[in-house]
Amino acid sequence: KAKERGRNRICSYTQEMNESIQKRVQMEQDLRRGIENGELELYYQPQLDPHGGGAVGLEALVRWRKGDRMVPPLEFIPIAEETGLITEVDAWVLRAACLQLKMWRDQKQQMVPVSVNLSPRQFQDAYCVELVRKVLQESNIEPGCLKIEVTESMVMHNAEEALRTMTQLKAMGVQLSMDDFGTGYSSLSYLKMFPFDQLKIDKSFVRNVTNDPQEAAIIRAIIGLGKTLGIKIVAEGVETVEQYSFLVRAGCDLIQGYFYSPPLPVAACMHFLQEDHLWGKKRKEIEDGPQ
Ligand code: C2E
Ligand code: MG
Ligand code: MG
Ligand code: MG
Repeated sequence: KAKERGRNRICSYTQEMNESIQKRVQMEQDLRRGIENGELELYYQPQLDPHGGGAVGLEALVRWRKGDRMVPPLEFIPIAEETGLITEVDAWVLRAACLQLKMWRDQKQQMVPVSVNLSPRQFQDAYCVELVRKVLQESNIEPGCLKIEVTESMVMHNAEEALRTMTQLKAMGVQLSMDDFGTGYSSLSYLKMFPFDQLKIDKSFVRNVTNDPQEAAIIRAIIGLGKTLGIKIVAEGVETVEQYSFLVRAGCDLIQGYFYSPPLPVAACMHFLQEDHLWGKKRKEIEDGPQ
């Protein structure tokens, strides 16, 4: 009897595994076709300079329009990474972001630097540097308008390779940003060694900043470190006015999060940038506090 039950459990386990493998295979096929059919889209999330007033950066975040659903990156980037499709996704994103910058420049729009996320696998690929060079040439944009975000864990995983890639990208004039800072295990001496222009405090730290003194202390320390090393500090996932106020008082250079703006489709993003002068008014209201 017990044996039978055991077998049933194994059966349903294998069945579940098969189903999940099938789902992944299906997802991979769909994604491959989706890339070919132009189903990927970029959203742009504005980053605020709380001291100067207004957007000084945009982060490009990929979405997959699958039927009538917008699939978020966390649902397909891991599969793309496992299957190698990420090379195509990242190449598409890089190209799309640079073409968008070119379009803004050609239309004489205000030029705000755009950050692009590259996955670890893509970044370790020797082809990465060549791809960036090629895309910059094609779009003929100012290299300083392009910022490349890599995660802390990626950099630490293969430090030598990462440093080589970064040095080459810096030599082209591209800016570099360390994403999700605080979630990996970088030693501080590494920070000094790598040519980062900015460092993004992971949203898990920002979340508790107003009710956890230890998180607050960590954030103050990171901001202090940034000042010492001459690296701009960005806080991501800023959702509330309390978080915003804390970060500004602590001297954070850039604010990104729903508090300022969610990621927006390109048309809405352009509209946002045009209305951005309104930020000065909103800021004054926040600073003056509730009436
Ligand atoms: P990330 O680079 O750390 O991007 C920030 C994520 O936080 C985005 O999620 C953004 O929508 C979300 N976010 C922004 N403001 C807030 C906020 O106030 N509160 C909260 N809770 N979340 C906020 P998204 O767009 O779902 O992207 C998730 C991750 O997927 C990104 O994390 C990045 O690692 C990856 N990703 C996104 N686009 C690309 C891409 O084009 N290529 C690669 N390789 N990875 C990408
Ligand atoms: Mg990012
Ligand atoms: Mg991040
Ligand atoms: Mg992240």
